[in-house]
Amino acid sequence: MASVFERRESRIRSYCRSFPAVFATASGAVLSDTDGRTWLDFLCGAGAVNYGHNPPQLKAALIRYLESDGLTHGLDLHSAAKQRFLQTFERCILTPRKLDYRVQFTGPTGTNAVEAAFKLARKVTGRRQIVAFTHAYHGLTLGALAATANRHYRRVAGGGLGDVAFLPFDGWKDGLDSLAILENYLTDPASGLDLPAAVVVETVQGEGGVNIASTEWLRGLAALCRRLDILLIVDDIQAGCGRTGSFFSFERAGIAPDLVALSKSIGGYGLPMSLLLIRPDLDVWEPGEHTGTFRGNNLAFVAATAALETWWSDDRLAGTIAERAGELTGFLRAIADRHRGRMRHRGIGLIHGLACREPALAGRISRRAFDGGLIIECAGANDEVLKVMPPLTIDPEELARGCAILAAAADAELAEAA
Ligand code: PMP
Repeated sequence: MASVFERRESRIRSYCRSFPAVFATASGAVLSDTDGRTWLDFLCGAGAVNYGHNPPQLKAALIRYLESDGLTHGLDLHSAAKQRFLQTFERCILTPRKLDYRVQFTGPTGTNAVEAAFKLARKVTGRRQIVAFTHAYHGLTLGALAATANRHYRRVAGGGLGDVAFLPFDGWKDGLDSLAILENYLTDPASGLDLPAAVVVETVQGEGGVNIASTEWLRGLAALCRRLDILLIVDDIQAGCGRTGSFFSFERAGIAPDLVALSKSIGGYGLPMSLLLIRPDLDVWEPGEHTGTFRGNNLAFVAATAALETWWSDDRLAGTIAERAGELTGFLRAIADRHRGRMRHRGIGLIHGLACREPALAGRISRRAFDGGLIIECAGANDEVLKVMPPLTIDPEELARGCAILAAAADAELAEAA
């Protein structure tokens, strides 16, 4: 008889098709299923569990909070848990980086933070157009989907995808000066592109296949936006919270975006929570203009506070990420070098990609790695990139073991394909 998932769960299910198991427990970088099989996790909830699964410090804080009958659901009521989160975010993240933002708690999905960013940018500027980039992913509700590039997602929208124009991301095609193109479009009053309210960018496109914008490009983009009075929105939903080596992914470029969307690992424990950071003078919302029932997930505030206290009250985690990043680069370069011409490596911090020339190869390697005890997903326009995202807190032995499984899977598939 078909499993209850096949009988009852919608056909929309997707990750579970790539990783067919019934998962039951998880600890650190390891997932276990109901039969006791284990896998190393290089998927990390697509960036939602950067600190690994069930980190003990956060678990203890959550248990203490539950046992004290702490408020769990609070709409946007002031709560002690939210107060501590805001104070800790200010102390550990904003103040040391000399950043000044208001914090808007949006609905708990990434896409909702993006919706809020677009609405606010349009409200502030009185303009409608948003500029997004090729291969961008900003979520799948209609407003955000309008700025998500892949046809796979766009074609089911059934309409409503207006007011967004796509221009080339850094490095989209060899020899293309995407910044010059953008500047030309924006400064020529007859380019056909309306002056946008905002430009929205991922500094590293995760879903798009680990495409990394250069620091010069990001600086140029920020300067252009400032010069033309266009707001700059950084979608740091996947690349933020330490993934690229610093808390915010844009720190390496030394820029301060006008709006920043955060989600995924900000909740610390895989608990739903999303934020929009707003330059204070742009905070022109009327009370409740962008609202939602689940903006006050107090369990997420508790976990998020503990995560900031544990990992972001000093620069130790950043140092660890740099060390692991060096090791990971070594492992992945060795794989790509062995299969030169068929596979290319790119990466920053602990988000890396192995881009396969033949798209189907990535899926086959991912499946073989799964059989070998590693969970790793495919990203990119044609799912041609193996996206390597271990927990930021993974220990070196586990990182080496996961990479060895990946290497064996790649070698075996390429030997078969040769
Ligand atoms: N923006 C980026 C950069 C993302 O990676 C994602 C999720 N993959 C989203 C937005 C949407 O987040 P959510 O799935 O929580 O709506």
